[in-house]
Amino acid sequence: MSQSSVKPVASLESLPTEIADTIYYSLTPSTLARLARVSKDIYAAVQSPLYRKPVLNSFRKLQLFARTLKGAETWDFRSGDAESKTVVHLTLLIEPAVEEARTGKPLIAVLLARLLRFIERYNPHITISIIISHSACDSQPVRSFESEVFPRVTTLILDLGEDPTLQSDSHSSGSGSRAHGSIVPIRPMRRPYSRPTPGHRCVPNAKFWTRFFNGSSFPHLQRLELHHRSWRGTSTPAYYNPAEPILFTTEDTLGLAKIERLVVNCVPEFNDSVLMAGLQHAPRLTDLHIEDCRVTYIALDKLLTHALPILHRLVLRIPRESPFARTAREGMNIRNSVEENPHLCPHFRKNGRNLKHIEFAAPFICRDLFLDGYEFKKLVDSGHPGSLQGDVNGNIVSGNLDIVLITGVVRHLRQNRETDSGTQKAACSESFEEDKQALEKERSLRTRRATIQKQKWTRKYNVLEGMCIDGDTYPELVALAEVEEDGIAWTLGHAPGNTVSTVLDGMTREARYEDEFPEDQRRRAAPSRRVREHDMNDSLSAV
Ligand SMILES: [Zn+2]
Ligand SMILES: [Zn+2]
Ligand SMILES: [Zn+2]
Repeated sequence: MSQSSVKPVASLESLPTEIADTIYYSLTPSTLARLARVSKDIYAAVQSPLYRKPVLNSFRKLQLFARTLKGAETWDFRSGDAESKTVVHLTLLIEPAVEEARTGKPLIAVLLARLLRFIERYNPHITISIIISHSACDSQPVRSFESEVFPRVTTLILDLGEDPTLQSDSHSSGSGSRAHGSIVPIRPMRRPYSRPTPGHRCVPNAKFWTRFFNGSSFPHLQRLELHHRSWRGTSTPAYYNPAEPILFTTEDTLGLAKIERLVVNCVPEFNDSVLMAGLQHAPRLTDLHIEDCRVTYIALDKLLTHALPILHRLVLRIPRESPFARTAREGMNIRNSVEENPHLCPHFRKNGRNLKHIEFAAPFICRDLFLDGYEFKKLVDSGHPGSLQGDVNGNIVSGNLDIVLITGVVRHLRQNRETDSGTQKAACSESFEEDKQALEKERSLRTRRATIQKQKWTRKYNVLEGMCIDGDTYPELVALAEVEEDGIAWTLGHAPGNTVSTVLDGMTREARYEDEFPEDQRRRAAPSRRVREHDMNDSLSAV
């Protein structure tokens, strides 16, 4: 029986166009490319889905893609514009070291920008994500970003760092380079980094940031992620001055107005000045990650005051070795100190109520995440042992921590506070207006509960070393999470005890530390791994 004599029961070609299209749009680019080879009809049909969201993993492929667009060019005679296939979103992955190995020349920013502008001409509404990995901070194309325009790039993700094998070279020139003197040599990483300019130093500076923030190099940038890797040295480099202020001009930060998501991970170029600039000029920022960067507690105190009410997501990870965390804790434990000490915990309680996701890892954390002064006083009145710091009169209350007592008292306290304000309302609610207000309040509470359930709000707190105040304990934190708002998932980690408790709707479960906080686990791994994955910030702050 010859194949052509049998009519296939159903094939992609025989399906109505709309249905076939729905199928094509749901397929991955590689599947589409394979399908396109099956028949001429299918080839024609899959063209538009195939070109809508291409993912290209080299500059060469970007060139070919641009050439294809050029080949498919048609002219709109009325407007005189060239048209080609519709591209909705382009994802471009570049590894500068691989590019250089392939062509013998570094991939320079000019070429990249030119090609993106070429694609933009056909697709003025395209959005582009650029992901550059294994790049030195100051090598091409990253080095020359500020002298080019990259239109329609809405997402920029950079994996920056220095090639560990080149590190000693790059730091041996110039004065004050003793910083990396005592480093144990390690085997080179399998994937090479591009070569930094000799003498380049990763320190806070305006130039590093303006190319991302000025709005002229990346006029459409909404999401910026900087993941920096650096050598873990043993002492602060002599040239590094953490107090060095960075002065940004108005033009330097114009682009921040569009930024919605900012991730800075182990970036030695980041400091208080950059954080403050970000705070002042990024009104649309709702998703902020600051991980293992060198910022003071005074700056973080300001950040949490101003940003927490606006953000939807916050990840704040303070390095275990942070000297600022230590100083803040010391200040807090001086009895009846008159000094104002930056304390981060209370901010989360006061201003973090409406965030979908909070993650906070710090050397020291305490019950102020949950309790206000009034609640704590009531707890002590009911027999809570208090803390070793004592009360205002210096009386140290002591005894054993009673979890049942704590949860009972706090729950009772909060219910009464609610009904107190409720009965006050009721007492003088002759007016229809006030009834309406009470109803409105009830309704908004119900809406909030539904939103929390739907969006699955989460709170992750990780105690890296201990409690803010002497005598405080981690189990108390877990108990306090049990009496928090329903629907919010709490994860409380305690690195020294290697324990994690998860709490949801008053129910506590134990979890594995390495499952819940893998990033911290990695950081505590074998020293040789640590050399590669740890950031120089840590070494700086270790002094
Ligand atoms: Zn750098
Ligand atoms: Zn370095
Ligand atoms: Zn605290």
